[in-house]
Amino acid sequence: MGEPTEEIWVLAEHAEGIVQPVTYEVLAFADKVAGTIGGRTCVVVVGHPAGPMAGQIARRTGCDVIGVENEAARVYSNEAYRDLIRAAALPNPPRYLFVPHTTTGWDLAPALAVDLGASSLSGVCGFVSEGGPVFHRRILNGKILQDVRPVEGRHAVVTVLPGTESPYVSKEDRPGIVRIVGKETRETKARVLGTVEPPPSSVRLREAEVIVAAGRGVGSAENLACVHELAGLFKRSAVGASRPLCDMGLLPLSCQVGMTGQTVSPRLYIACGISGAVQHTMGMKNADLVVAVNTDRNAPLCREAHYAVVADLHEFVPLLVEKIRAFRGRRSE
Ligand code: FAD
Repeated sequence: MGEPTEEIWVLAEHAEGIVQPVTYEVLAFADKVAGTIGGRTCVVVVGHPAGPMAGQIARRTGCDVIGVENEAARVYSNEAYRDLIRAAALPNPPRYLFVPHTTTGWDLAPALAVDLGASSLSGVCGFVSEGGPVFHRRILNGKILQDVRPVEGRHAVVTVLPGTESPYVSKEDRPGIVRIVGKETRETKARVLGTVEPPPSSVRLREAEVIVAAGRGVGSAENLACVHELAGLFKRSAVGASRPLCDMGLLPLSCQVGMTGQTVSPRLYIACGISGAVQHTMGMKNADLVVAVNTDRNAPLCREAHYAVVADLHEFVPLLVEKIRAFRGRRSE
């Protein structure tokens, strides 16, 4: 295997031919790293066809793009993608390959690291430059920030958490250069049987201006009534949930906010009985105003929220509903 180059690659995430916004966030992160090591950033998009997406990225970012094309990449499969990326990267792999920390990214990145003989760093959320980048990642449910760096002299495959940076803004007034390469894959052992579309209501959650989100602290299906009632008081509102609520079947998966759910940015996010694990907060940290209702003043979300209401949600939420109704009643008199 050849020496790693000072090139930095960003793997584009896409769905149905549309490049996903997280690609541009990871590109912004990669660009900052490139600024500290003097590297050159390039985006790689794997697909069939790859050309239109490569063109989209090159026009929007001004960065050079490698489109890796093969019939086997029409839908995502770990085996086909890793074969194609390996074929494109060898014999001179990039110094860093940055991959969005999404369901696809965390499926693919460790396998790629093995294939490229690279260090594998996952879920990074920042870095400092100390004779090369030292990456930050949160561990133990977000309680501790850990610093990691690739093994000396090795290249690295690094997954970057969504929302770590704002989307990349082009510094060029012309599109980047697109190069389409056709690479071979081995015959894959797994077959993709189909994909299931998320229910349309999940789009509503992303568009909502006010989200009242329920966590495990809500306790039962009956107790959810007050959360629905509070959300119902606002226009363009929706009910959100932490993962345990969806896992328990109390709310549909389309309500889940966080790393494996939706990323939302409402004007107001009221979190009821949610502790604030990093996997949840990474989906709602862009909310303009966050209110946490929790009996535990030390819950992480109470520390991060703009307002923390230390109270039993079953007492506080009905009271808030009553007060809002009374306030609106007085205004309309
Ligand atoms: P808990 O952590 O149990 O917190 C419940 C909170 O309710 C506590 O703070 C408690 O003090 C409070 N409470 C209890 N009773 C009351 C009351 N009566 N009134 C007020 N407050 C009360 N989680 C997500 O949410 N979204 C994701 O997308 C997601 N993806 C994940 C992906 C991976 C790979 C992994 C490992 C985990 C993921 N998780 C996700 C799970 C995450 O780690 C947490 O376990 C989860 O977010 C905790 O949910 P919670 O805050 O509702 O529950």
